[in-house]
Amino acid sequence: MAPNPGVILPLTSVADRLRESMWRSANDKRLKRLQRVVDAMPENPPETPTSLDATSDAELAGFLAAAGEVAGREVGLDPFPNQYLAAAALLRGFSIELATGEGKTLVGAMAAAGWALEGRHVHVLTANDYLAARDADWMGPLYRGLGLTCAAVQADQDLPARQTAYAADITYSSVAEAGFDLLRDRLAARPGDRTGARREVVLVDEADAVLLDEARVPLVLAADAEPHRDEHALALAAYVRGLEAGRDYVVAPDRRTVHLTDDGLRRVEDDHPGRDLFGTDSEFLVSLNLALHAHAALERDVDYLVADDRVWLVSGSRGRVDRLQRWPDGLQLAVEAKEALDTAPGLQVLDQLVIAELVGGYDKLVGMSATMRAADEELESLYGLQVAVIPSHLPCRRTDHPTRLHATSEHRDAALADLVRDSGKRGRPVLVATQSVRESERIADLLRGLGVECVLLNARNATEEAAIISRAGEAGRVTVSTQMAGRGTDVVPSPEAVDAGGLLVVGVGRFPSARLDDQLRGRAGRQGDPGESVFLASLADRLVTDNDPDHPEPAVVDGGGEVEQCRANRRVLGVVDHAQRVSDGDQRNLRWLSWRYGELLRRQRAHLVEVRETCLEGPEALDRLAEHAPEEVAELDERVGEDELEEGARLALVAALDAAWSAHLGHAAELREGIHLRVLAREDPLTEFEKEMGAAYQGLSGRILDDAVAALLEAPVVDGRLDLESLGSRIPSATWAYTVTDNELGDDFTRMGRALRRRIAGRG
Ligand code: ADP
Ligand code: MG
Repeated sequence: MAPNPGVILPLTSVADRLRESMWRSANDKRLKRLQRVVDAMPENPPETPTSLDATSDAELAGFLAAAGEVAGREVGLDPFPNQYLAAAALLRGFSIELATGEGKTLVGAMAAAGWALEGRHVHVLTANDYLAARDADWMGPLYRGLGLTCAAVQADQDLPARQTAYAADITYSSVAEAGFDLLRDRLAARPGDRTGARREVVLVDEADAVLLDEARVPLVLAADAEPHRDEHALALAAYVRGLEAGRDYVVAPDRRTVHLTDDGLRRVEDDHPGRDLFGTDSEFLVSLNLALHAHAALERDVDYLVADDRVWLVSGSRGRVDRLQRWPDGLQLAVEAKEALDTAPGLQVLDQLVIAELVGGYDKLVGMSATMRAADEELESLYGLQVAVIPSHLPCRRTDHPTRLHATSEHRDAALADLVRDSGKRGRPVLVATQSVRESERIADLLRGLGVECVLLNARNATEEAAIISRAGEAGRVTVSTQMAGRGTDVVPSPEAVDAGGLLVVGVGRFPSARLDDQLRGRAGRQGDPGESVFLASLADRLVTDNDPDHPEPAVVDGGGEVEQCRANRRVLGVVDHAQRVSDGDQRNLRWLSWRYGELLRRQRAHLVEVRETCLEGPEALDRLAEHAPEEVAELDERVGEDELEEGARLALVAALDAAWSAHLGHAAELREGIHLRVLAREDPLTEFEKEMGAAYQGLSGRILDDAVAALLEAPVVDGRLDLESLGSRIPSATWAYTVTDNELGDDFTRMGRALRRRIAGRG
């Protein structure tokens, strides 16, 4: 398959159905085998086991019985049969799909205890710090009852606290902290500066969200670089301010995309006569587009805040200022320039990783979530996961209604208001889920304007989110939230709410994949509760306009603008499903592509990390330098002591290696940003990228050795002593950890790239 970011791979529904049926039959056999283990559990659980061989059926059955007994006694939760089944599946290496509210926290803890008893260290990764602390606290008594220790890593912990947390048998942490700790460990100046984390077994909660939806979000470790003014960016920011909206550029109604019109392009060309915008200066056009995006699509105090001479991003899906988030570099710079910040604190990226690299560093990876099956093939091909679907312990009583499609978004909003008002009157709790902060605010305003009281969930922290979501099941309560808010928290309907029909979940527009729709639906009807879910969509939804713009028009709509479920509308009623399949395929394609782009760098990094480790631990650094520059090293050897030279060589080499890697990453980022323009030259961008980065890497080791020798020679020697401090200070320590934002902008840039390509192709 040729990697081409513009090609969409639609999945035909026939292939989907075929896959589904094959999958089910395989799954049944797996489950039957595990069920026999659960059936064999002894009536009287054995004494607390001190070790476990989970490959033996009898031992596994015995362990499950003992763990269940301890869970009942110490945590107050007697596992349901399906929880035993799920824990057995995890211990046999399967990842599990188990519905929301079925108790995955306990299941994961039983499995984690099992691995720990096998003598392996376990990391349980959660969505955020709050959940890591909550789960470690909640499950602590189970572990202790089995003679094991557990701890949680938190963002504000210092190194000694982290070392303690990682020394426990089972360590809970957020995905982000686990990633940052790996990055910091890889950059430690001394062996003792590492967290000591042993990466053996990793259990990922909400695995599809982490491994797929957030797969392309890099975790970054950076050093604060010298503040500087970027005159070029400032000039661009000033220039785009002079462009005219509507004539020179168009902003999409939802303000998520901006693009130059043909008039605008002509004007830019006229204003920059010396530039070959569609040839050698195409990078200029990219920066200009970024400046335009910052100017026209991003709003201060909505999308970002300015404080302490810095731009702070308001996370799109979560709706809070996230100190750990930045936009991709070019956009961050453009926004800083727009705000004419005196200091544009540029960041020097020291190292970065994506989730795949993090979880790939463990001996064993398993995941759990309520929605794995829909993506099982991708999870298997990218991560080698095998998914087992565990039945819920009571039959699901939730009613999932077909999507209600409306001709326009106004019609959709009116239908939403009616639905929410009616349900509220009957004392029924409603959870309205939107896809962005802006949308959630708009909907909350709309409802309040109609006299419907509602709680808006955004711009808060994880603890508050959990508190709000946990009250979303109270009778008559209306909660408006973004999709990601309050993850990991159960919505329990109150008794009156159950009488009124349980929680009603309403999605405003369908999500970009069916799996995300299912994540939302799962909020209702947990553990056999009644509940309902429905999506209100419109033909003006971004999902439709982006992915199926040439759809047929409805033949019949009712008085409220709803597309009626009738034969004449058969084709238009399928539009949303079709758009979603296209979008899902597009997302998969992007994930696959960014996986491929990352592959080479991951291999290069792994190799360098290995070299770094051996240099850090032993005398190898000096050996390498002596081999590379025998004369210079011999000369130094005469002037300073052997031990000191060894230490100096180690410091110099590690510093040179880190600097070289940082520069290599910078080179890769630049190359990657402009690489799609290579399509114009009929070159395959991925091949070109790999060729260039491969060549760049070839020269790297020589340069590292040169730099290290030069640094050693430059280091002052006083009274026969080498100034180790000056060598050590070359390793940057003021580091800043952040993730590059995972909001919609990433996709917009892909789209922007495509639009640009189309335009340029049109001129060729
Ligand atoms: P999930 O992560 O699968 O959505 P949680 O682990 O958050 O589910 O658990 C959901 C709720 O079910 C919690 O309130 C928990 O106390 C409860 N629960 C879990 N297991 C049991 C059990 N065996 N018996 C009774 N309640 C349970
Ligand atoms: Mg959970």
